[in-house]
Amino acid sequence: MSRIVYLNGEFIPEHDAKVSVFDRALLFSDALYEVTSIIDGKLIDFDNHMKRLDRSMTELDYPKLLDHKEIRDFHKALIEKNNLNEGIIYLQVSRGVAERDFNFPDKKTELTVTAFTQKKDLVNNKAATHGISVMTMDDLRWHRCDIKTVQLLYPSFAKAKAVKEGFDDTWMIRNGYVTEGTSNNAWIIKGSVIFTRPADNLILKGITRETVAECAKDLGYKINFKSFTVTDAQNADEAFITSATTFVTPVIKINDNKISKGEPGKFTKALRERYIQKAREIAI
Ligand code: PMP
Repeated sequence: MSRIVYLNGEFIPEHDAKVSVFDRALLFSDALYEVTSIIDGKLIDFDNHMKRLDRSMTELDYPKLLDHKEIRDFHKALIEKNNLNEGIIYLQVSRGVAERDFNFPDKKTELTVTAFTQKKDLVNNKAATHGISVMTMDDLRWHRCDIKTVQLLYPSFAKAKAVKEGFDDTWMIRNGYVTEGTSNNAWIIKGSVIFTRPADNLILKGITRETVAECAKDLGYKINFKSFTVTDAQNADEAFITSATTFVTPVIKINDNKISKGEPGKFTKALRERYIQKAREIAI
């Protein structure tokens, strides 16, 4: 079955949706994105995704911000048109079509706005039940990882390398400290304290991360926003990742070291359950 996708105000069968070869997303990776998860046909944490999109657009001097209500309406329409009960909506905003030039084009250029759905089992899946393994690699991305751009070749390369070497994902390392996964935030638990690095320019401040931090407090855990090393992680009681598509997913192996005896930890499981419960409560 072919999906219906969104392109600049129109709903179009996926094979008919076309974007110009001069689009700056194609020429300069000059585009921003958001991924919102859907459970029970509803959007999770939509408003916070929109606030982060505004921030990304402002940081990169986009000519205007988009209307959140309009975006919400076409997200809702995509859910309905594609009969989506569980999965994600990918939204991309590029600076638009212009003659190839490193300088940003005239402010009058129209943004290119696209969105599509993907069906995924977010609540029940193998990674959540069995946990994932991660390898580590130098973090060679630019220093503005706080902006959610489509400039994702290095994370894609790091993910492919992990899979080729028999792992599920890569945790990236800068100056001896874990920054984040290829498309998720990294966390460890030691005793009753949870560690995740402070949100600066070297990581993306995950929307899931913020909601998970609230859930952890609900469950009586303290959060320490402090960087940790691979050795800290290997000696942790539990480790996990968070993102809109993985929620809270246990990490059971880092390079050759098992974490929590190679099984999903009990706090990670409780946190995942609490997060899913909260996600359902806040869904719109
Ligand atoms: N870090 C990176 C590099 C990511 O790509 C993502 C997911 N897009 C995240 C963290 C998690 O962000 P969120 O919880 O908003 O999905």
